[in-house]
This record gives sequence, structure tokens and C-alpha cells, in this order.
Amino acid sequence: MKIESLELLMVPPRWLFLKLTTDDGLVGWGEPIVEGHASTVAQAVREAADYIVGQDPNRIEDIWQVLYRGRFYRGGPVLMSAISGIDQALWDLKGKRYGLPIYEFLGGRVRDKVRVYSWIGGDRPSDAGDAARDRKASGFTAVKMNACEEMHFIDSHAKVDNVLERVQAVRDAVGRDFGIAVDFHGRVHKAMAKILAKELEPFHLMFIEEPVLSENNEALREIALHTSTPIATGERLYSRWDFKNLLKDGYVDIIQPDLSHAGGISESKKIADMAEAYDVTIAPHCPLGPIALAACLQMDACTPNVFIQEQSLGIHYNQGNDLLDYLKEPTVFHYHEGFVTLPSAPGLGIDIDKTYVRNAAERGHDWKNPVWRNEDGTVAEW
Ligand SMILES: [Mg+2]
Repeated sequence: MKIESLELLMVPPRWLFLKLTTDDGLVGWGEPIVEGHASTVAQAVREAADYIVGQDPNRIEDIWQVLYRGRFYRGGPVLMSAISGIDQALWDLKGKRYGLPIYEFLGGRVRDKVRVYSWIGGDRPSDAGDAARDRKASGFTAVKMNACEEMHFIDSHAKVDNVLERVQAVRDAVGRDFGIAVDFHGRVHKAMAKILAKELEPFHLMFIEEPVLSENNEALREIALHTSTPIATGERLYSRWDFKNLLKDGYVDIIQPDLSHAGGISESKKIADMAEAYDVTIAPHCPLGPIALAACLQMDACTPNVFIQEQSLGIHYNQGNDLLDYLKEPTVFHYHEGFVTLPSAPGLGIDIDKTYVRNAAERGHDWKNPVWRNEDGTVAEW
């Protein structure tokens, strides 16, 4: 049994799928993607192919070590996302070969279902409130919203007031017993992050996310002194080595490894286990496609310190092509009363609609995030 071929399929709205095929005809799927850099990651996967084709797909850890350690340079979004998609596809192959869900190889189920949250948009307070009410009506028990658009190093308090008004509208719409997370999206610098964190405290948020960029994580100490709200971060960290000092420093409450960026199922499971020793919980980042979400659910199933899962159904990026469109059996992602049940089919537990994928790949995509500027013309974080 050997890996025979790799195929990359760039599909809308902004994803990249990897199909690994073995010489005995098994197919495994992965989602190696950095949003906005799909072609770059595709090329990184092609480079990695030289180290994969002809190898035994059961040797997942060894292949991971070769790709990570064996090629001198390592880390970062591109190389790690390439490894992530390959790792997911290898786990899918193993599960299908032995007829078991992936979590059965990683200790087995520790839960019956996983709590999920939904993204809400809405620039005006009433829009945000309506969106949250809509999600609650469709069964969700938690939502996440962006705090703000561009925010300068020191910015107007009116922008802070605008955040508070929108969050108030959401809280009013959903009531007390409902999870609200506010994503600062790395758009906010330390000085304004302190203010926002403090002002948001009375709303009893589920968490604030990326209050500063991950490269400024030393600022979390000061921000944590201004609020008791749980602090989440980690979607732009890519390995155990990226997470270790964050955990050691002790100012993070929730980490958000992305299973398509942080080395796949293998590495994210290790990151999660490492976090457990610091009493830190996991909310895997996943604004991505169905393969990435399936990979997350496999890890969630066997990881006790996961508390909630991000998912992208209906997210604004997905207009025209949502993640269920790519599945033959979309009920695998059926959400009920705020939870998704664990998949039970072998491998990733999803059945990719190959015809749909192939047609979508003919259309492809060239998704890029917008470039934002502050009022004075300086480039702002998106
Ligand atoms: Mg985020």
C-alpha cells in the first residue's frame, strides 16, 4: 500500500481541496488552505509531493516529521497549511482503510456532541441584533461577531461606543443565557484593546478573540489585567512551538488552533493536549470548508478540553457556495439545539461529492481579503 497520486482542486468560495489516492484505490481528502493564498499553498503541497508519493500512508507521524523537520525551514502559514491538508488526507485514508472514524485512533470519543457557534455580521446595531435573533431561532446557543472595522493605534471613543451599541443590541436580542464572542480580529492595537476589553466586561461575553495580533501576544498580560472576560487567540499560530510560550505566560484562556493551518489533526491534537496541562480550553478556528470542519469534529470528539467549535455555514464568505454543497450527505453537519452530533462514518466521516467538486474547480476562485486604510491613509489591519 503506497500513496500513488495527489490532486489539488481550487474551489469557491475560497478553498483548496487535496485528494490523495493510494495504489489500492483508496481516496483521502484534506483542505490545505490559507485564505487569500490558495495558489501559494497549492504550490507548497506540490513541493511536498516528492516526499509523499510512494510512501506508506499509515505512517502519518513519520510523514509529518519528514515534512516539518526534514526540510530545514519550517513553520508559518504556507508550509504548515500544506502539511495540514496532507495530514488530514492521511488520517482520512487510515480511517477508511480500517473502517473507523479518526477519533477511534486518538483515544476514542470523550463526548456525545460538540457545541457550535455561528458567525453574525451587521454593521448597524439593529442588524447585528436581528442576525443574532435569527441564529437563536435556528437553534444556536452562541454567536460570534467582529468588534469593529479599522481601528487606529489611538482612535476615537465614538468607535468604542459603536462596538458597545452593537454588542448591547445582540445581548438584548438573545437574552442573558446565550454565548456572545467578540472578535477583535487583530485589528485593534494594545491601547484601544485595553479600553475595549474593559468596556465590554459588563456584557459577560463568552470570550474576546485576538484582542491584539499574535505577534504582540506579550500585550495580553496588560489586557488581562483590565478584564475578567476570557481571552481567546491562536488562529494565526501554527505549531506547538508557536503556542508554547503563550501557554507558559498564562494570559490566554482559550486557544483556537486552525486544523487547516496548525499542522492538521496530528499537531492540533498535540497542541490541545499541551493546553490541557495549562487549564486552557480549545475552540478550533474554522471559517473554512467541509473537510476542515470534518477534521475539527474528529479532534473535538476525542479531546476533553474542547468547549466549542467554529463553523462557517452561512458565513458571508460562502455566498453562492456553502460547505454543504460539496457533500453527498449533508446531514453529517446537522446542528440541533446548538450542538452537532459526532460523525460515525470511517475517516473524516464525510462523503465528498466528486462531481460537484470537479465542476466547482473548473470555476475556481481568486479570493483575496480587502486592504483597509485608516482615515489618514495608513494601512489598517483587516
Ligand atoms: Mg478570528
